[in-house]
Amino acid sequence: MQMICCKRLFKFAVLLILCLSAAGWMQNPVFTRQDTLRGSITPERAWWDLTYYHLSVKVDPADSSFTGSNLIGCRVIEPNKTMQIDLQPPMKISRITQNGRDLKFVRDGNAWFVKLESLPKTGDTVYLLVEFGGRPKVSRRPPWDGGVTWAEDQNGHPFIATANQGDGASLWWPCKDHPYDEPDSMKISITVPDPLMNVSNGRLLKHERHSDGTNTSHWFVSNPINNYGVNINIGDYVHFGDVYAGEKGNLDCDYWVLRYNEVKAREHFKQAHMTLEAFEHWFGPYPFYEDSYKLVEVPYSGMEHQSSVTYGNGFKNGFLGRDESRTGYGLKFDFIIIHESGHEWFANSITNWDAADMWIHESFIAYSENLFVDYFWGKEAGAEYCRGTRLNISNDRPIIGIYGVNYSGSGDMYAKGANMLHTLRQIVDNDEKWRQILRGLNKEFYHQTVKSEQIENYISRQTGLDLRPFFDQYLRDTGIPTFEYAVVGRKLRYRWINCVKDFNMKLKIYINAKMYWLSPIPQRQILELENHITSVEIDRDFYAAGFQLTEIIEQK
Ligand SMILES: [Zn+2]
Repeated sequence: MQMICCKRLFKFAVLLILCLSAAGWMQNPVFTRQDTLRGSITPERAWWDLTYYHLSVKVDPADSSFTGSNLIGCRVIEPNKTMQIDLQPPMKISRITQNGRDLKFVRDGNAWFVKLESLPKTGDTVYLLVEFGGRPKVSRRPPWDGGVTWAEDQNGHPFIATANQGDGASLWWPCKDHPYDEPDSMKISITVPDPLMNVSNGRLLKHERHSDGTNTSHWFVSNPINNYGVNINIGDYVHFGDVYAGEKGNLDCDYWVLRYNEVKAREHFKQAHMTLEAFEHWFGPYPFYEDSYKLVEVPYSGMEHQSSVTYGNGFKNGFLGRDESRTGYGLKFDFIIIHESGHEWFANSITNWDAADMWIHESFIAYSENLFVDYFWGKEAGAEYCRGTRLNISNDRPIIGIYGVNYSGSGDMYAKGANMLHTLRQIVDNDEKWRQILRGLNKEFYHQTVKSEQIENYISRQTGLDLRPFFDQYLRDTGIPTFEYAVVGRKLRYRWINCVKDFNMKLKIYINAKMYWLSPIPQRQILELENHITSVEIDRDFYAAGFQLTEIIEQK
């Protein structure tokens, strides 16, 4: 008995130490050479600009293996002979050729350095064929834990999907695994056993049947695509489709679901058109008309794979049955359809240049849930949804991560980021102007990889406000800015505390139930009214706190 207790105590102590060291690491992370190779623009990456990928993979469910090749096309920016290609173990590169001739390569952890046969000239286009294979990492908790999911559908057919956000595309295929560079187009050819079918990004060019009991689907993406967006989804699928009459004309919408889910899906996926309608209103035209829009059923909750949004939310509203806002509005729509489709604008069209700036993906799209509710149920409903998500904020670490080492910031990039943007909408105080800023971002940075500063500066320019302290506060600091005030008779003394040093966010407040705009700063200011002040209330759509120094003091 005592032994068991000791064992338990020991286990508890080990767990405690692990938790404390994990928490310590989050506050003060230590990075390795591998993190730098993955997360920075190394000299072996900087000299070439991706133009094309043709990824071919044979997937064998019998032994969980992937075997194939990736033809990498690039334009030479400055001559260099050594190129970095990324592929994580246990996957291995077996051969690299240029113009049919074998090249020498060495491996350094997840990075492979290959020597070209001769020094290329600036402006040259170089093609390397990288052959690879292995049994890629299995995901234990997709999509949060990257890898391949090998599941079975209810009829016993294999049901397979990749999801690798964070861990990286190089988890299963060789590529330049950094978000700053995207190929201009990509072909994806996947071979699977009959009667399965693979669905990837873009449009289906050709579907070939072979005599050996396999079939190959060839997909083509005619726009730049981020690495983590590339995906393969294999199942006993049925297909149906329709057309959405959108801002840029007719958009082909295709739906791929397991055979026995077709009836449910035909009804439930009507939300796809609602999503496109709301987001074209707020963000502008869907960014990949040429590549179509797709919802593809997968054996995990879902992911924003470009032009093949993956879906596994059980054909139910909410997120796996939950309401992220606890207001009731979160059960009025399917979180995965809305959230992951929203990423076509922020994540796939406008992509972070470095993983540290992932708020560009998640803050705008967590905020887009509010905009979706706003579009269909009204402005106050959207605001209520957004305020409801504040319960999910932890203020543990800044939203912006650490540059150059593939390190994203706090999960607050979702709910806090959404509330930051909702607060900004209050400051702009002109809904049409705000909508034009959101649409403007999608024009200005269409199909680009961008840094946080570019987004911040664009919004500052469009609003005419110096928003640098605002963004520093919400993206680079963990404090909740606090409006400290005291009332003495007819006077309100106030300032911002718990904030960055030049924080100057204007604030809407209600004094004696009448609305006022104040411009607090960290230095104390005084507002004097004609009447005695009996109540002070901060507008609840601002993500900021209020702290009353004293009870209201009457002065005769
Ligand atoms: Zn997301």
